[in-house]
Amino acid sequence: MGAVMSTGTLNTIPDSPQALVIGAGPTGSVAATVLARAGLSTVLVERANFPRRKVCGGCLAPAGIRALEACGLGERLHSIDPIPMRHLRLQSGGAASSLPIEPYYSLDRGRLDEVLAAGAVDHGAIFQDGVRATIKHDDHVLLEQGGHSLDCPPGIVVVADGLAGTSLRERDGFDWVINDQSPIGLGAVIECPLDDDDDDSIVMRCSKTGYIGTSRLGDGRLVVAAAVSAEAIKRDGTQGAVARICREAGDHSRRFENIQWKGVGQLTRQRARFAQGRILVLGDAARYVEPLTGEGMSWGICRAADILPHARRMLEGEDVCEGWTREANRMLRTRRLVCRTICGLSRRPRTLSLILNILGERPPIGWATRRLCWSSS
Ligand SMILES: Cc1cc2nc3c(=O)[nH]c(=O)nc-3n(C[C@H](O)[C@H](O)[C@H](O)COP(=O)(O)OP(=O)(O)OC[C@H]3O[C@@H](n4cnc5c(N)ncnc54)[C@H](O)[C@@H]3O)c2cc1C
Repeated sequence: MGAVMSTGTLNTIPDSPQALVIGAGPTGSVAATVLARAGLSTVLVERANFPRRKVCGGCLAPAGIRALEACGLGERLHSIDPIPMRHLRLQSGGAASSLPIEPYYSLDRGRLDEVLAAGAVDHGAIFQDGVRATIKHDDHVLLEQGGHSLDCPPGIVVVADGLAGTSLRERDGFDWVINDQSPIGLGAVIECPLDDDDDDSIVMRCSKTGYIGTSRLGDGRLVVAAAVSAEAIKRDGTQGAVARICREAGDHSRRFENIQWKGVGQLTRQRARFAQGRILVLGDAARYVEPLTGEGMSWGICRAADILPHARRMLEGEDVCEGWTREANRMLRTRRLVCRTICGLSRRPRTLSLILNILGERPPIGWATRRLCWSSS
């Protein structure tokens, strides 16, 4: 199965598509797939040139797997040989426990994004990478590529341009509200000998100042992703802050020394609004909690999978902003609570290690471990 096929230059983009999707991460590609599959003329644009690297733990939750399969992207997903992760191993304050979970898929994030964009093309979307989109005040979108530009007045604009997106920078009312306690995201993919602990486990090392997660890829490399307090990085430097988290969690392997980390900004943030006029915002571009429970991709994918009725009504001139925002909040409410509780616990090593010591001796309660994972939207 082929990788992504960018369909040409700005010349191949129709003058006024019914839907223009900005950003070809999982959220944008799923939105483009759903819209194109329903027969809407759909263009998907991406600022980076594919393949591109993205800081991510690369673990796809069961809800995201199911949503991809339901919208016709299952074959593309399975073509990159994701590895099922059947356990979540938590380490804190020297204690550890391994909890059985409904399988997450461990996958190469760069390859996932490539095949999902290719999937959108399979379903009829036009895809163009290397194109920067900027939404103007009249809802027209300026598309720029290598010194050329195109003014595009789409029927609707779907903003899926992630945490570092720039498409809304000229629009009022879409500012980010950033939590000042928010951790910084770090990621890397490393060559690393197989450890008994991590063949089918997502391993999380938790401490007061952050956490470091790992999962194994099909080719044997290890995906490492971390969320570290900004204060700890300022005080100890990135390597020092990471070493400290490992030490405090009880991981003395020193396997993360001298990694070339790639960083992203402060993670915990939310847009002042999720929709306006002809614009719908979703995925990381709308809201981000924290990556500890590995749900970011699934939140974007599940939201994008539900986009069609809203898009249709918007194209008919209806105001869908309230309904779109209400549904987004409903979808996130429960998961945010689970995520915040787990993140809060991860920063209290004594309490967590006490819980892990108890869990280490007893079989974990099925209900509790199921609540940990996002199984359905
Ligand atoms: C450390 C860390 C670990 C994580 N681990 C996990 C995990 O294990 N599991 C999980 O599910 N999630 C995880 N996440 C979260 C996950 O990476 C995100 O939730 C996910 O990438 C969101 O997808 P998206 O499509 O909304 O945005 P993105 O993947 O960020 O895609 C947005 C795209 O828009 C493009 N873009 C930006 N501006 C423009 C523009 N003006 N014009 C055109 N294109 C533009 C960007 O180049 C980018 O490709 C993690 C995040 C971090 C930081």
